[in-house]
Amino acid sequence: MNYLLDKIKEYVNYLLYNVKNVFSLNLNEIIESEYKKAFEILDKLGIIEYIKREYKIDYKIPELEISKDNPKFFGEYSKSENKITISKKSIKRKINNELKSLGYKEIKDLKYLNISYNSIFLYPFYINDKNIRKSIVEAFIILTMFHEIWHSIDYSILNRLEEDPNIKDRDYLLIILNSFDNPELRASAFEVVMYYYYLVNNLYKDKKGYITPYPNILACRNYIEKIDILEKNEYMKRTVPYDLGFCYANIIVAAYKSSLEKNIYRIIDNIIYLDKEIAVKVIKHYRDNLDKLLYG
Ligand SMILES: [Zn+2]
Repeated sequence: MNYLLDKIKEYVNYLLYNVKNVFSLNLNEIIESEYKKAFEILDKLGIIEYIKREYKIDYKIPELEISKDNPKFFGEYSKSENKITISKKSIKRKINNELKSLGYKEIKDLKYLNISYNSIFLYPFYINDKNIRKSIVEAFIILTMFHEIWHSIDYSILNRLEEDPNIKDRDYLLIILNSFDNPELRASAFEVVMYYYYLVNNLYKDKKGYITPYPNILACRNYIEKIDILEKNEYMKRTVPYDLGFCYANIIVAAYKSSLEKNIYRIIDNIIYLDKEIAVKVIKHYRDNLDKLLYG
């Protein structure tokens, strides 16, 4: 056997496989499968049943629409139609940019995906080396899916609060849910918590995933210092709720680690009560007690 020849053959096959797969990705199929997967995970944890029971909401699973050419968003939830729309055009553009600029980097076997607005925070994900593009697309779509699903949950809670004056903490929750910044903050927090759960418990069953919030928490520590300046800038101000939700969730994941699943209902309750003020308080608390979080 010629070892070198074998290696070359192996490499050529690998390249061919990659090239073929870059062009043959079926986005519709991936979007549909991530939509199903997201609800399967929520089902498995009983999250929707829990919220239905505790907050007495009448929740109907949103329909999925795949849009060919809407360039304005990756995903959007329509309240009036109870529909999640995913835009293929935006996703394609995003993934291509991500690959072009190599917006992912590697730390301790885990690849990080750089998809936040201001590019200072990183989302961990595992790359299937045979098809990098597919791995990125899947990670990105399931994140978007969890985010939009939370918007639909928030909307069901808001509906219920408006109808029923006897719900616990109604006035407080109504203020939170009607405030402009909070919906994106909450959806981002949920997206990140669920994504970590999915990554570590469902996809790779690798507890190493729980170390990945730490570099983000360090970035969040600096971010929170700059928040007043960011909020003075009209453009940057828009992204602050997303980033705060992201930072809050990374702290939650780091604090619970492998007991995330066991405490998931408590975490969900906290997200239901989450507003900007609480998120900032939690982030500042851990900024000052970082050692406890990292080594406690
Ligand atoms: Zn959103």
